[in-house]
Amino acid sequence: MYDQKISFENTEVAYASLSDKELKKAYWLFKMMSIQWLVNIGNSMITLCLKLNLPIQGIIKNTVFSHFCGGESLDESISLISRLKQNNIEVLLNYSVEGLEDAKGYQDTYEKTLNAIHFAKENPSVRAMCVKFTGYAHTDIWIKLQQNKELSAAERHEYLQAKSYIDKLCSEAVACDVHLYIDAEESWFQDSIDTLVDEMMEKYNQEDAYIFNTYQLYRNDKMEDFKKAHQRAMEKGYILGAKIVRGAYVEKENKYYQALGAKSPINDTKEASDKEFDDAVRYAVEHIATISLCCASHNEASNKLYFELLTQNNIVLNHKHVNSSQLLGMSDNITYNLSAMGMSTAKYMPFGPVKEVIPYLIRRAQENTSVEGQTSRELLLLEKEGKRRGI
Ligand SMILES: Cc1cc2nc3c(=O)[nH]c(=O)nc-3n(C[C@H](O)[C@H](O)[C@H](O)COP(=O)(O)OP(=O)(O)OC[C@H]3O[C@@H](n4cnc5c(N)ncnc54)[C@H](O)[C@@H]3O)c2cc1C
Repeated sequence: MYDQKISFENTEVAYASLSDKELKKAYWLFKMMSIQWLVNIGNSMITLCLKLNLPIQGIIKNTVFSHFCGGESLDESISLISRLKQNNIEVLLNYSVEGLEDAKGYQDTYEKTLNAIHFAKENPSVRAMCVKFTGYAHTDIWIKLQQNKELSAAERHEYLQAKSYIDKLCSEAVACDVHLYIDAEESWFQDSIDTLVDEMMEKYNQEDAYIFNTYQLYRNDKMEDFKKAHQRAMEKGYILGAKIVRGAYVEKENKYYQALGAKSPINDTKEASDKEFDDAVRYAVEHIATISLCCASHNEASNKLYFELLTQNNIVLNHKHVNSSQLLGMSDNITYNLSAMGMSTAKYMPFGPVKEVIPYLIRRAQENTSVEGQTSRELLLLEKEGKRRGI
């Protein structure tokens, strides 16, 4: 146990669950996504075809959707959940329908999420449900709350309804022994999300961490916030649930503050974000008894650090406060190799109707085109495994 080493190079382990056909398909997909102009044209064409009601959903379902998503429904996702379970990999489910900004849409998201929590109770390898608070009330409301502006009567009603949905989801999560991970969003309303998550953690994490906030370490103020959240948990006697990420909105954040002529809270360099993230890993491992940590990252160095700190400190790799998660369809070399060493891992698995999940898929395609080195890393590993299999 003491001071074990981890390597993410073993492609036999990484792609153990992919057939030759699936391996080739994954390679082809990443090859396509590595071509910037193709992704740009592809994204515009998909949007246009959907507007014109052209029947492209079948093609999408058999390509990007099947690579990055569990299925259109929970039932459809079961076979993939079972396959991951065979490799001791758990699942973080997300009902990935976005932009339903009205009462009916919020109610639908609530009902689908509640249903998924109940599904998780029956399928214990579903570790958590992931939710975005903007799926329950309009973004403008979260912004106003952060700015301490008064809400109109209708907004107040919408907020209270959202809070009641969220409270019910938290209490059901505890009753069903499922975690609820709250996504971090843009900095101009993140404080109002944090306030509500802290309230829910205080209420529901007394016995153990069920409710998790997300800390974006690409922000220069988040390491401090993370420590303060931990202090608060200690003072009030609950366990801090923490999902740590670097953060998904670098460009959007920088543009927003540039337009205001203000300084962006995003770190000046990638290296600074890496350092903050790794500091958060170190801090959480030091306080493992009172922080439950989901290290949500595709960064090999950060995952290696997490793994090595655990082994150096003689903390069992499947400790209930330990988890490393990656998106379905990405960085299998990290998830599967960590899991093979006995570490608690999970895949973030979106589900929902193909048409509704398209914004998520477009983001994945863009990310895999723009993230320096990510696509070439995936391609290299898939190529290596293809050669090993002689296909
Ligand atoms: C399970 C899971 C859940 C997630 N949940 C959320 C969430 O709730 N909210 C959210 O915002 N994101 C979320 N993400 C996305 C995450 O924030 C990252 O965008 C993504 O994982 C890439 O970062 P990385 O740690 O994998 O590694 P890397 O590929 O090493 O890092 C890329 C990241 O570094 C940061 N970065 C890049 N360039 C710079 C720069 N010049 N200056 C400063 N920082 C820079 C950015 O955050 C960028 O995304 C989630 C990811 C996973 C796997």
